[in-house]
Amino acid sequence: MAEIEGARQELDRAAEWLCAELHRLAAQLTPAQDPDLYLPSDPFIVDWHEPLLYQYHATARIEHPTEHYDATLATRAASLLTSAGWQVTDDVTDAGSDTELTTVTADRDGFRVRVRIQRGYGGGVYSGQTPAMALYTPEPFVRPDPVRTPETVRGGYVLCDECDGLGWCPVCEGRGWCPNEQHGRERCPECYKDRLCPICQGAGELEIAHLPAWKRDQYPELRAVASRFDPPVPRDPGSSPRSMEDADQAKAAPVPKERVTDEHERGDPWRGCRPPCRPQTNPT
Ligand SMILES: [Zn+2]
Ligand SMILES: [Zn+2]
Repeated sequence: MAEIEGARQELDRAAEWLCAELHRLAAQLTPAQDPDLYLPSDPFIVDWHEPLLYQYHATARIEHPTEHYDATLATRAASLLTSAGWQVTDDVTDAGSDTELTTVTADRDGFRVRVRIQRGYGGGVYSGQTPAMALYTPEPFVRPDPVRTPETVRGGYVLCDECDGLGWCPVCEGRGWCPNEQHGRERCPECYKDRLCPICQGAGELEIAHLPAWKRDQYPELRAVASRFDPPVPRDPGSSPRSMEDADQAKAAPVPKERVTDEHERGDPWRGCRPPCRPQTNPT
């Protein structure tokens, strides 16, 4: 992502203006206490469609004893904001009850200011938000190179059948999220933000010696031997070969990345295998 020149500075200035407006409003509504506004150092992402939109939120609570409850605060806030050019709406929940809550919402040029007052409560809550702005230009996603290919897979290993050597999650291709029309993005249903392939955990390859029989049967180069030597593996006919149990089994065989492979071992698909997996006679 490339930063849009001047965009962050403009959004920061918008946050300063918002805070100044809230202080000005509070000075007239609750002059006895200036609101101690909380403004995070970085804006929130409020729209995950590309380009992502960022926005600052500012909040402050005014604390007063219950006897200081001022029933006119909401109407005075609405009047002040209206006269300052804001579009104001009122919302009252639990009207008439002891916990009646009045929210005055004011919008202007993409900014929003809110004042909340609750019956029986002496204080109030000021909040506001800046317009939502794009800070970066979207860039097309580039699929990462696979960590293993048929040419680079180590002896005694086969390419991971889940990611075909990619190492990264094959669904989100390492982003951790998938595009979503409604929300912009959604958490990847395959890796749950982990980004790595859930089967090989980033190795891109699986060690033959640790493959279960049903999985070896998926590799044509191993299938003949698997069918000759392996006893049938009882499986629940309703279960998927990609069940969590199977994934855990594969995960339990982490690839030792530091292992040094001798040259004479390269190309030996039976390295690490014991009979009956490894043929009894050496073909050479
Ligand atoms: Zn994989
Ligand atoms: Zn994923």
